[in-house]
Amino acid sequence: MKFSEKNGQAAEYLRQAVPLMVRHNIPPNPLNYALWYTYVSDRVPELNSQLDKTLSTYGTCPTMLSEQLFREHLIKDEIQGAEDIQTSLIGLINDLHEHAGETAEKTENFSNVLEDSLESLHERENGETSLPLESIIQALSDHTKSVGETARLFQQRMHEAQAEIQALKEELNKTRQDARVDPLTNLFNRRAFDAELDQLTGLDNPSLTSSFVLIDIDHFKRFNDTYGHLMGDKVLQYVGNLLKEICKEPMLPVRFGGEEFAVLMPGVTQQQAADIAEQVRLKIQAIRIKQKKSGEIISSITASFGVSQLITGETSEQLVERTDKALYQAKNNGRNQVVCA
Ligand code: GH3
Ligand code: MG
Ligand code: MG
Repeated sequence: MKFSEKNGQAAEYLRQAVPLMVRHNIPPNPLNYALWYTYVSDRVPELNSQLDKTLSTYGTCPTMLSEQLFREHLIKDEIQGAEDIQTSLIGLINDLHEHAGETAEKTENFSNVLEDSLESLHERENGETSLPLESIIQALSDHTKSVGETARLFQQRMHEAQAEIQALKEELNKTRQDARVDPLTNLFNRRAFDAELDQLTGLDNPSLTSSFVLIDIDHFKRFNDTYGHLMGDKVLQYVGNLLKEICKEPMLPVRFGGEEFAVLMPGVTQQQAADIAEQVRLKIQAIRIKQKKSGEIISSITASFGVSQLITGETSEQLVERTDKALYQAKNNGRNQVVCA
């Protein structure tokens, strides 16, 4: 379960949850807090009805039951996904083990056949047997074929297993995919960003000067129309990597949405932020991508930037709006430039 409430809402839940916990003598540990926070937020009706029932029975919620409710209602999805994958893996390994056992058995038999054949040949040499050579060769040929077939089946099963393991790996990645991360660029997304920004703008007396940069790729619709959406995606990934390289911690680069990026820069003045933005602008302008089909080198990618410094008391919405105006001005002035708010 993800908690994505804004600070004000989260604080309100805290105000409601703590007295409830005290009244019902619930130990104030993080697990219980998550449980009662969810209870007052009223987002899992089934949890609420189970807790209500427990309270009317016991007057409190026993620790074991709290832990069970926490597992069932707060982290169920995460656990279920991992359990499903584990079950599939066990099945796969058992199956492979069986195949490997069969193959080993057949190979063992084959080894015996080889020994027997050798023995028969020696006996023939010494005149101890009249077994015709043809029958020895026939037996060898039959068994070789059979072992060859078993080995082929095993190899085929190994290939299938490889594909299954790959699919499980991808599934595991998906269940681990953080709802705050944009899958195309691997940057944090708008949702994660809003939470960080709210925290920064919510400080009464910020001891740090912080800045904010909005980035919008120029004429990206035209780019997609000309070179295709896949090529457009490549550009977004490229820009995402550039931002990761240039805007290292504590700066926070994110995919703001569509072809827009943003960077939160704690401890950075507006002038420094503008310098960093200019550095990114030059790197984007220098992007060269070769189009596979035509061999054409694409060199027309640019972006526009709005830069602002956080003003104490300003809400995150006001900050974004002010920065967006600077970005709009950069577009109006002819794009491919940095404008400070
Ligand atoms: P401007 O210079 O004024 O910003 O023009 P623009 O064409 O970049 O702006 P507009 O808002 O008209 O179009 C944005 C385009 O970005 C349209 C949309 O198809 C494209 N876009 C948004 N998200 C993605 C994405 O994930 N992949 C690709 N390839 N394109 C995207
Ligand atoms: Mg845009
Ligand atoms: Mg654009």
